[in-house]
Formats: sequence, C-alpha cells, structure tokens
Amino acid sequence: MKIIDIIRNTKETLFSFEILPPLKGDNIYDVYANIDPLMEFKPPFINVTYHREETVLRPLPNGLYEQKVVRKRPGTVGLCAAIMHRYKVEAVPHLLCGGFSKEETENVLIELDFLGIQNVLALRGDSQKGQRYFIPEPDGHHYAYQLVEQIQNLNRGIYLDEEIENNTPTNFCIGVAGYPEKHFEAPNLSIDIQNLKRKVDAGADYIVTQLFFDNRVYFDFVEKCRQAGITVPIIPGIKPLATKKQLSLIPHMFHVDIPDDLSIEILKAKDNTTVRQIGIEWAIQQSLELKNAGVPVIHYYSMGKSDNIYKVAAAVF
Ligand SMILES: Cc1cc2nc3c(=O)[nH]c(=O)nc-3n(C[C@H](O)[C@H](O)[C@H](O)COP(=O)(O)OP(=O)(O)OC[C@H]3O[C@@H](n4cnc5c(N)ncnc54)[C@H](O)[C@@H]3O)c2cc1C
Repeated sequence: MKIIDIIRNTKETLFSFEILPPLKGDNIYDVYANIDPLMEFKPPFINVTYHREETVLRPLPNGLYEQKVVRKRPGTVGLCAAIMHRYKVEAVPHLLCGGFSKEETENVLIELDFLGIQNVLALRGDSQKGQRYFIPEPDGHHYAYQLVEQIQNLNRGIYLDEEIENNTPTNFCIGVAGYPEKHFEAPNLSIDIQNLKRKVDAGADYIVTQLFFDNRVYFDFVEKCRQAGITVPIIPGIKPLATKKQLSLIPHMFHVDIPDDLSIEILKAKDNTTVRQIGIEWAIQQSLELKNAGVPVIHYYSMGKSDNIYKVAAAVF
C-alpha cells in the first residue's frame, strides 16, 4: 500500500521509524531484534536508509596509505524486502542521486517494483567525504527534484530508452526530505521552501522532516510551506537524544539547534544513562504535542537502537 493512502485512510496519528542497514559483516538478526519490540505500536511503514560508498585511507605495512572505496552499510533493498516479508508492513527504501547514473536509478526502480516495494524516499544525498560540494555522477541527478521527475516518468511508463516497446508503468509513492531549520546549503529558509515545492510539483506525495527538538520550529515551517502552496502531508521526524557527545555532534551533522532548556539539562547530567532518560522525556513531550496537533505520522530516527524509541512510543501511542 502507498504511504499516502495509509495517511489518507487514518484519522489517528501513526507511529513509524527509520533504521540503518547493518554494517557489512554484521547480521540481520540484530536488526530484527531492534525492530521486534517496536511492532507492538503497529508501524504501517519502516524506512531504511541508504549509504553510498566512501573513500577511506588504510595503512599499509610499509607505512604508506592506500586509498580504498568501501560501502560500509550495503543491503538497503534486501533489508526492505526482508522487512516486508517478515513483518507484513511497507518498507520504504531511501534512494539517492549521489553515486547513481539515471540508468542505474532506473534499474534499481525496476528491481523495487518487482519486489512489490511501492514506496521510496527520494533524496539527493550529501557530498562525499573530502568534497566541498555535492558532485553528481556523469549522467546522474544534481537535485532530488530531478530524481522525483524520473520516478514519476516511470510511473507514467516513460523509460530512459525510448525504444522500449512494453512500457509497463510503475506505481511508486514518493516521499522527499524537508528541513524546518533549512537545508544547510540553502541561502535562506524561504528559498529552501521554494526548492522543496519544486520536489512536490515534480510529483512528491509527502514530506518527512529533518529531526528537530523544538516543535515551534516545525509548526512555523508547516505554516510557511502552506503559504508557499505546498499542500502535501509533512511528517515530523523526531530523535531522542542519547549521549552527551550528541550535544555537539547533532548540530554538526544535521545543522539543527538544540534548545536551551534541553542543552542545560544534558550538560548537568552526570552520565549517559541520565542523558538517555532526559532524551526520552523530551521526545515524549514533543510527540504528545505533535499528536495533539493532529500530525498524520510521527517518524522516529532510531539510528539502529530501539530501546529509547520503545519507551517514547509506549508513552505516546
Ligand atoms: C528524512 C531524511 C532522510 C534522509 N535519509 C538519507 C539517507 O538514507 N542517506 C543519505 O545519504 N542521506 C540521507 N538524508 C540526508 C540528505 O541526503 C541530505 O540532507 C542532502 O544534503 C540533501 O538531500 P535532499 O534530498 O534534501 O536534496 P535537495 O532537495 O536536492 O536539496 C539540496 C540543496 O539544494 C537546494 N536546491 C534544490 N533544488 C535546487 C535548484 N533547482 N537550484 C538550486 N538549489 C536547489 C536545496 O535548497 C538544498 O539546499 C536524509 C535526510 C532527511 C531529512
């Protein structure tokens, strides 16, 4: 079922979450062990992130370094298929522009279609480590809206090769990313929202937001999006803080603010067990307010560990 239809067919706020594929060499049972408890809250869909290849430097015995291209977390598509098979819920693979030519994207979409995966989250991806700016593949997409256009073309039966005779259309529901505190490369929020609208105009069915810790930021963002003519559902993304280190890591990685009250509480905490509890309580308060406001879904970033998400969900759903 398409996420957009799931949203249209419910009046309740739904629970969903995002997981990462395991590191190469780790097994899928640890992933299941994190998902299993969360199934109690009946998520209609689970997102699976995509991690492109990275260039790393490995030391050699002679003291020199060799440059290697590695993919640390492969398996997004396989994990999605496994989740759908095991839990009978929709799995939403993240699909990137980065690292893919249009041809490769089309081939992945054909595979997803054959697996019965009807939902994708279309993203540009970040620049590779060591690169200042995002560089698309030769014949790849520069922006997520172009990826949305390609998926929508396939939904209309338009393949890249014009000579294909049996143009079976796909039927993908497309989600895209939105940034309540603006995407870090955008000159300002209003231009970023215009660029978000481009993705919706290209055919995105719904938006999932970057994580945020202050609901006011989300509510203001939704209002600005509506004023800009964006009418699709905007799903809030929530992450319970879990360690003291994240106080600087999260702003650095995700370009979001951590409010004063929360920062001060965390700075005062004597250890990470206390921080984890503070993070859970903060996320519960955020979620209850969002639920009261009637958001369609609350989407939790699990980053692979589900015990804190479980506690939040138990208090909210
Ligand atoms: C919910 C969510 C899930 C994510 N999952 C993953 C994942 O699984 N794997 C991963 O690697 N990353 C993931 N990311 C991170 C994401 O890939 C990065 O934030 C990336 O830098 C931007 O992706 P985007 O799809 O928002 O890009 P875009 O929508 O293409 O926007 C990127 C930048 O370009 C600007 N822009 C857009 N269109 C134009 C235009 N026509 N002209 C000029 N400027 C323009 C935008 O304002 C923005 O600043 C996720 C992010 C979110 C919020």
